[in-house]
Amino acid sequence: MHIVAKLGTSILTAGSDRLDLEAMSRVVGQVVRLRAQGHQVAIVSSGALAAGRHRLGRHLRPGYEPGRQAFASVGQSHLMQSWDELFDWNDVVVAQVLLTRRDLSDRLGYLNARNTLRDLLDAGTVPIINENDAVALDELLAARIGENDSLSAYVANLIDADLLVMLTDVDGLYDRDPHGDPDAQVIPRIDRIDRAIEMAAGGARGPGTGGMITKLTAARIAMHGGSDVIITNGREPNALINAAIHRQGGTYFPAAESRLESRKRWILGSMTSSGAITVDSGAATALRRQGRSLLPAGISSVSGAFDRGESVEVRDPLGERLAVGISNYNSTELARIRGLRSDRIGDELGYSYGDEAIHRDNLVLL
Ligand code: GLU
Repeated sequence: MHIVAKLGTSILTAGSDRLDLEAMSRVVGQVVRLRAQGHQVAIVSSGALAAGRHRLGRHLRPGYEPGRQAFASVGQSHLMQSWDELFDWNDVVVAQVLLTRRDLSDRLGYLNARNTLRDLLDAGTVPIINENDAVALDELLAARIGENDSLSAYVANLIDADLLVMLTDVDGLYDRDPHGDPDAQVIPRIDRIDRAIEMAAGGARGPGTGGMITKLTAARIAMHGGSDVIITNGREPNALINAAIHRQGGTYFPAAESRLESRKRWILGSMTSSGAITVDSGAATALRRQGRSLLPAGISSVSGAFDRGESVEVRDPLGERLAVGISNYNSTELARIRGLRSDRIGDELGYSYGDEAIHRDNLVLL
């Protein structure tokens, strides 16, 4: 199973004004156990801002207040150092991935982020993802995501996660405001996020940037991308294990559609280029009947101009539309490597974006 664990500031600091290594190590222990059971886990970690405020704060001259970006930059390195050390005790290698909205909204950024995260998971690392706060400052240009709830949903979509677990400091989504009403109950399962559910979520806010409303928005994005979502209390021992293995605790939101359907919609819905790739009959059969990736060796010609990361049409030798897919190479590169075995890509281009012209996960047969 592919799991994304999203950790809010309140969990990482255990409610204090600095990173709490004990709380972090409890998370590490659970991630290590999940990995031992064969699951791949990526972490979306907040806490940079809090760690930076704590670290840099005492070195500042009185009255001087730097921007949020400065705090986040100081804190991010401290945050990663802490994760790195804690995972290293367990012989697990971590990798830092910093993303902005821009990286996810353009095709190429999306493809690069997806390929990198996949590579990192396949290589056995735990990717630790945060927003690149140092550069993602412009909310007007919509360059910033702003909170890690949404970021975690985008990451779940990027890696085709089976499950997104949002670990927060409340037990889940309540049917009423738990501060105002002692009889408020956690809703165990929500199949559809409607107006009544949004009303129930209104108001509740924690020390991080996100409240329940941003969590619901994120849950909706992830559910429609084909991931199950659980919002649960990260302060409970084993909350992550209970959510991932037993689907217990918190509020559970089952995926609203299959990952395949959602991917197909995404690939077909954004056909941007007028380019086309024609394949030989062997490749046509491999794509059609065996669900393979398209390799440069099977390409007989390339027409039109397209960039790496754009959707292109794939045609069979008779010119019939066979599939649409997202190309790993631009049209000029493909024209140079067509017909070649994949181990020759590097020799021909001087670099390689991988063996496939179009990975099968990024291909929709028509
Ligand atoms: N990126 C911010 C941080 O690392 C967190 C944003 C959030 O808590 O949602 O501090």
